[in-house]
Amino acid sequence: MFKVKIMHKCKWCENLVEKVSEKEKLCDYCRFEIFNLAKSRLRVISESYNIIKESSNLETIISRRKIMIDYLNEFIKYEQKGIEVYSISINDAINSTNFESNKRILELLTLKFEKSIQKINKSKTIKSKQNNASKFVKEAMIIKDNYFSFAENFDLCTQTAEELIKIVLSSN
Ligand SMILES: [Zn+2]
Repeated sequence: MFKVKIMHKCKWCENLVEKVSEKEKLCDYCRFEIFNLAKSRLRVISESYNIIKESSNLETIISRRKIMIDYLNEFIKYEQKGIEVYSISINDAINSTNFESNKRILELLTLKFEKSIQKINKSKTIKSKQNNASKFVKEAMIIKDNYFSFAENFDLCTQTAEELIKIVLSSN
């Protein structure tokens, strides 16, 4: 005789299929599509992460961070349906991206600060002291505005930038 065929609902496309994956409850098509996308996005995400950690260029850091966040945001819709694509949650991934880029931007600012202080100390005229100081302050203000909020280290990075600005302003 025959029996009733048991059908399963795919968690993502909601089609009824004979078989869904055990863990994610996805049909073969969705499972392939979603995890293939996750893999290829992860390549760009990790490449960007390494660039952020090594770059000395503020624009590069900002644009790479944007790519990472945009890519990660694409997966929120899956997570909302209970489909975990990465080993950490999308929210945690976004937070650590913001944290790392803030950290790197602060490192750049500190380097600029050290160079500026040297220049200021070596300056022979008051005018050149002032020029070097105001150049640093200008750059530091731009950097400060580019810290990414919603990161644990946002306040710390902002405060540090303000302190460095104060030191430079009082040194001339
Ligand atoms: Zn499906």
